[in-house]
Amino acid sequence: MAPLLLEPDRWRGALLAWYAVHGRSLPWRRSDDPYAIWIAEMMLQQTRVATVVPYYERWLARFPTLADLARASLAEVLELWQGLGYYRRAHQLHEAAQIVLERHGGELPRQLAELARLPGVGPYTAAAVAAIAFGQPVAAVDGNQRRVLVRLAALAGDPTLPAMRAEIAQLAATLVQEEPRQVNQALMDLGASVCLPRQPRCGDCPLVGVCLAYRRGLAGTLPASNRRPKPRREGCFAFVLEYRSTYLVARRPPQGLLAGLWEFPLTTAGPNDRPADVLHRAFGLCATQLVADEPFAHLFTHKRLEVRPYRGRLASPERPQGGGYAEYRWVDRQELAALPVSALMARLKRLLGTEMDQPAPAGSSGNERAPAGP
Ligand code: SF4
Repeated sequence: MAPLLLEPDRWRGALLAWYAVHGRSLPWRRSDDPYAIWIAEMMLQQTRVATVVPYYERWLARFPTLADLARASLAEVLELWQGLGYYRRAHQLHEAAQIVLERHGGELPRQLAELARLPGVGPYTAAAVAAIAFGQPVAAVDGNQRRVLVRLAALAGDPTLPAMRAEIAQLAATLVQEEPRQVNQALMDLGASVCLPRQPRCGDCPLVGVCLAYRRGLAGTLPASNRRPKPRREGCFAFVLEYRSTYLVARRPPQGLLAGLWEFPLTTAGPNDRPADVLHRAFGLCATQLVADEPFAHLFTHKRLEVRPYRGRLASPERPQGGGYAEYRWVDRQELAALPVSALMARLKRLLGTEMDQPAPAGSSGNERAPAGP
């Protein structure tokens, strides 16, 4: 670590010169509005930059100020967030905007500790907003920045472990004492485009002269271990149930995965489960017909959901029993289009959308077709 710390002007000058030419041109970087920077940082949690850009632009067009967001309805907020995933963030953004309007006069607090008290603002997001929006000398250590730091100082050990995290945080804090806004973003970009996980491009790196991993031939082998566990597989049935051109939809509970969003009723199912049995067991419903549609896999960070969709008709608009949802409704296609839904549900609607008005093939509950499998 010593050479890096002894030559701060040298590495900072090289890093910022590189950033001026190669830094990513992103819409939130053209703004110095703390609200806009906060929105970007919330959207970037667990989500790729390329995915976030159009959402960010639509968001700022619809809610140009924090007050606009605070005064919007939750349904409007969720509608705009639709497809971005991790919907809890949308709930938290809305709630945090209302808190800021009420308690801070509509201005985001400048201090790290106060930012971190807002819903959805964890230590990383608080640091990113404090440094980038307010120029506070704090480090926002994301995965990219962490990898760069581990290599610069040739830190051995697993960077996900607490002792290593503390060491990395200490190093990062030292580096951002000057020009925190630029240095933080430059380190993030260096990790995203040059100091790559498997094949770092040391020949193009502005820090090659001070990098201990490079000097010791360890660039390709550090960090020691940062592998995520493989997402577990989970099977489920999705039921698209129709009664006289209306469809049964369910709202997820206000907490947890995809909180508050609407979907066709889903329930976990084993490979040998029969959809009619599961429909009855999970929701207390009996469909007169159940027809399998093309199965597909939907990825969450922690699991791979293997979805087997079934279309069916009900003899009456029954209210399901159980199923773990907050609410059920029968809606027509127009109402269905207006509901806030997850990317998984949007996919299901697209998959089945063209067939929703067509009569399901004749048959009884005994002649279900088994799906082909994911
Ligand atoms: Fe990463 Fe190589 Fe640059 Fe070191 S020299 S920071 S390992 S790209």
